[in-house]
Parts: sequence; structure tokens; C-alpha cells
Amino acid sequence: MAGSAGPGLAAPVLAGRRVLLLDRARMYVCGITPYAVTHLGHAATFVWVDALGRVLRMLGVEPEVCRNVTDVDDVLDVAASRASAPFDAFAAIQQYHFEHDLTALHVRPVRYEPRAHRYIEHVIRLAQGLLAAGHAYARNGSVYFRGQDVAAAAGLDRGVALQLSAEYGGRPDDPAKDDPLDAAVWQAAEAGHPAWDSPWGPGRPGWHAECVAMAMSAFGVGVDVHAGGADLRFPHHAYHAAMAEAFTGVRPYARAWLHAGTVTVGGVKMAKSAGNLVLVSDLLERYTPAAVRLMILDRPWAADWDYADELLKAAAGRLADLYQAAGRAGPVGEPAAGEVRRLLALDLDVPAALSVALGEGGAAARLLIATLGLD
Ligand SMILES: [Zn+2]
Repeated sequence: MAGSAGPGLAAPVLAGRRVLLLDRARMYVCGITPYAVTHLGHAATFVWVDALGRVLRMLGVEPEVCRNVTDVDDVLDVAASRASAPFDAFAAIQQYHFEHDLTALHVRPVRYEPRAHRYIEHVIRLAQGLLAAGHAYARNGSVYFRGQDVAAAAGLDRGVALQLSAEYGGRPDDPAKDDPLDAAVWQAAEAGHPAWDSPWGPGRPGWHAECVAMAMSAFGVGVDVHAGGADLRFPHHAYHAAMAEAFTGVRPYARAWLHAGTVTVGGVKMAKSAGNLVLVSDLLERYTPAAVRLMILDRPWAADWDYADELLKAAAGRLADLYQAAGRAGPVGEPAAGEVRRLLALDLDVPAALSVALGEGGAAARLLIATLGLD
């Protein structure tokens, strides 16, 4: 139409990088390992991914989110056997609670929710492809990805990489490996873990390989955004990208990464083992979902933060101010709404957008409430 301004560029900035988009965004987020209740640390990551999806929709881009469930996992196997339950039944119950909590937090349903145990054939094919391309080797019933270059690509020195690998179940001391930084694409069967048939004998998929298989099955060779908690940066995400790129030859596998900051309590990372879990269900008994969302979102997404009850109280207070601001008429022409839109697209700058919305009120405040799911 003559004189029409058109929809404008959909070009959000993520981690300082502009990501041009057309009409869809492929977003993969590493989901839960369903072995324990959902805590605020998990929820914060998924609320950020949900917020990004909503901001993209505001820009006219449909977010296609794939959030996997890691139901084949060594930690899950231990928890299931302690509960005397089959791993898949145990995982399904935990997944139900997780989804209940996310729905309560107004996290929109995702397009794909693959469960790892349904992707065994895909992982076998991934392993075969990596073997054929010379990026992996088979030994003692396992298939190992050659990972000696992954640490350097992630900007880590070898010592730190080995330490993180050990911490996250990468078994750097496995004597079958050529290099301690090699990672199992396929792990030979062991007592206490489920096993499936493969060309290398019975075994189970490796953690990184599961996500590669599920992401590739949903989206093909790459994604626009890969998201997850900051603690997944290495080894999990670094190996995911390396395996995907080695298999497809297409790089980078992800155009942008969203690593949501870690949530601590009293300076200690929230974890079942630390006994400091803050449960979403407990918070929602005292505060509205919108207050919990605003507490999570009113900060830079990459920043680590320490949970305290006062933060939630303060968020509830700011939310009341925001609702009041939304009821005001606001200035004529409402340029402030455009500013809120610009700030949200600029690395999801919620604190700055909130400040504009509170100051100007009217359409700016209403746009922020609608976009971030704060109603
Ligand atoms: Zn993953």
C-alpha cells in the first residue's frame, strides 16, 4: 500500500548481537531432568525464554519453542531406583509437576516437547554420522566424540574444562577415551541404567547427544536461539554445538545464545543437595504469578542473582504501581509505548522498559503488562 510504513525490521538484540528474523524464530531450550521438584532456579530460565517468545511475537515473529525433557539421565536413574520406580514412570510424574508449575507462572505452552527416551534411534544415527565423518570413534561398546578442541572454542583453558567436565558427569577419567575431553555420544550399558540395542551393543545415549538429536529433529541443522541456564554453557552447550556442527558442517549451529543467570540463596546456588530450594508452588501461595514473573524479569537476564523474600515483596509493590500507571490516560500520541517496545527488543531490557512504563503510564504500561504476561 502506498505510504504504508510496513511492519518494520524484526531485529531483536540478544547478548549484544542483532538477530534479523523474518516470520519465525526457532528456539531450543534445554528443559528439565525430571528427577526432583521445580525450583525457582529452573523456573527463572523458562520464564526468560517465555518472555523472549512474547517479545518476538510483539515484533511480529512467531516463536517456535522446543523444550526437551531429559528423561534418560544418570542422575534421574539414581533417583528413580531410590524410589523403586521405572525411570520413565518416575520422570513422567516429575514432568507433570513441572508443567503444572510453569502453567501457573503463565509460561505459554511450547510447540515441541520431546522426551529423550523417544530419540534413541536419532542418537544412533548421529553417532553413525560422526563416526563416518571421523569426528568420533567406537570403543568398548561406547562411541566417543573427539572433544579436544571444544574447550578452546568455548574460551576455556584445559584445566577448567576438565574440572567442569568431571562436575557435570563427563567422566574425564574414563580410560577408554583417547582424550579426557572426548564425550560419549553413546555409552555402553551399565548396571542401574536403562539400555537399548545399538550397532555397538546395548547402551544409552550421552547427555549432549540427546539434545543434539532432539534439536535437529525439530529444527534441522540449526536454531535461531539456544537457551538454558548459565551452568549449561560448558560442557553441555559447547558440546551440543560442536557435535551438531561436526555432523552437519553448518556453523554456527546457534545464531544466538540465551544463558539465564544462576539463582542463589544466601550466595549458594539453589540445589536439592544444598537443601536451599525455593519452590515455585510455595511462592505462589503468597504472591501472584505476575509478581513472581516481575521479580524474575526485572534485571538483566544474564546476571546471577540472590533470592530473598524482600525481592518478591518489592516486585509485588512495583506491579501494583504498574497497574495504576496503566490506568492513567498517558500522553497524547503515546510515543512511550514505542520506547517500551524498543527497549524490550534491545536485549530484553525490562528494567529500562519498566521505568518508562511507570513514568509515562497509559499505553506504555499496558504494552509492558501484555507483552511480559504480567496480567
Ligand atoms: Zn540440552
